[in-house]
Amino acid sequence: MEPKLNEKLLDEKLTELEKAKQWSPRVISKLETLLRSGDDFSLFRVNPVKFGTEKNISEHEAIDLFLYATKIGLLHMNWEMLCPSCGDVVSSFRSLKTVHAHVFCNLCQLEKEASLDDFICISFTVSPLIRQISYHNPGQLSVEDFYFKYHLSADATYSGGVRFVDILQSLMKALSYIEPREKKTFSFDVTNGWLIGYDFITGAMYVNGIKENVEKNNQSLSLQFSNGKFESNEISLSAGTLTIDIENPTDKRISVIFINKPPEISDENATFPPFLTGKKLLTSQTFRDLFRTEVIQGTEGLTVKDLTILFTDLKGSTALYDRIGDLKAFSLVHQHFESLGKVINRFEGATVKTIGDAIMATFIKPVDGVQAALGMLEEIANFNKGFSSKEIILKIGVHKGPSIAVTLNDRLDYFGQTVNIASRVQGLADADEIYISDDVYNDKAVRDVLKQYNVEESKAKLRGIEDEMKVYKIASNQV
Ligand SMILES: [Zn+2]
Repeated sequence: MEPKLNEKLLDEKLTELEKAKQWSPRVISKLETLLRSGDDFSLFRVNPVKFGTEKNISEHEAIDLFLYATKIGLLHMNWEMLCPSCGDVVSSFRSLKTVHAHVFCNLCQLEKEASLDDFICISFTVSPLIRQISYHNPGQLSVEDFYFKYHLSADATYSGGVRFVDILQSLMKALSYIEPREKKTFSFDVTNGWLIGYDFITGAMYVNGIKENVEKNNQSLSLQFSNGKFESNEISLSAGTLTIDIENPTDKRISVIFINKPPEISDENATFPPFLTGKKLLTSQTFRDLFRTEVIQGTEGLTVKDLTILFTDLKGSTALYDRIGDLKAFSLVHQHFESLGKVINRFEGATVKTIGDAIMATFIKPVDGVQAALGMLEEIANFNKGFSSKEIILKIGVHKGPSIAVTLNDRLDYFGQTVNIASRVQGLADADEIYISDDVYNDKAVRDVLKQYNVEESKAKLRGIEDEMKVYKIASNQV
């Protein structure tokens, strides 16, 4: 079947995408090939990290590519909340504002707090205006595709590298839609363990143990779907042949999968190949620039388990304003923001905000934060060469830890003790100095980078923090 492609619109949008920024050679054509000739499933919930690896595009550029393509309307962004155990896409949202703090998987009966680090995943699907794919209308999918491709992540694997969907399929006894007012009958053999019936549409579930001591044949189970649940005739099950009558008296379609789970298979946490996490997306400058209106709803915020936070400030800025006047000083401070912003982006961080003369930036890895700090001192040393006196004098601090992502004053911001401490650690620094916390210093990659620098350990009492904290001062080699 020919793909349902809107040639004219696709051409227009690709031209727009090409102009959006300077791309590496052939990056756009690699996306174009996917949009034109990929099968329907390959255009559904595309993982940009995986796409980058397969097409030999850096992760950073692949993420930018998908973000720009979304901004101009080639793709839609999906925020998915994954069940850590089975990899079910428990919920999928079109925007950040509908993402909430809890994951509940009906199938695993598992509730977990969703952190932006791991089980909030961002993927991209082709816009139906560009190309129509069957996954835009899940109601029209076969029940197999609805379960094993639309719902469950094909990428979730258990120990030994076995995919969860393959385990499920190997244990599956029956799978079917049950249309409104339809009654269906299934017959199969069951063995010792559990019989689980589950409907991915409504979350209705039936679980019963199966005994092996007495083998029984001609067992008959009847299930009726009612008020979002399966009501049963409450029989006890033994290994043997089983007939199940299942009835859907409602006017909406339901579905059911029957699994015979042996007792030796236990639940475990699935592992996923690298994907674009919520944390990584919020630390993308491109995301922050292109999707300024994205907000986190509610007062709860979303947890980030581990984020590196960098603060800068200027030394002697009052004297600077006094000496050269507000207008000139403002222009200088602005130029210095731009220079530092470039360094932050070079190390894959994002500027969260500026506060007066200060910058707050975030990084995924502490080593990126430390390298950015070192790069900043170097950048500002060069910057000052253009002036007769040393106009801009930087003081930098880096700390890492858990944080809460929130929307404050229409901006995606971070909140919590880690942010407070990062700011206090910055407060220890004097001219051309970087202070980092013990947590940052203990990262192996950070230590490797710091081998060639003069690092001084000390203890500091930070305002508002009970215990003294171990901190490290780095003096740049350049200055
Ligand atoms: Zn689950």
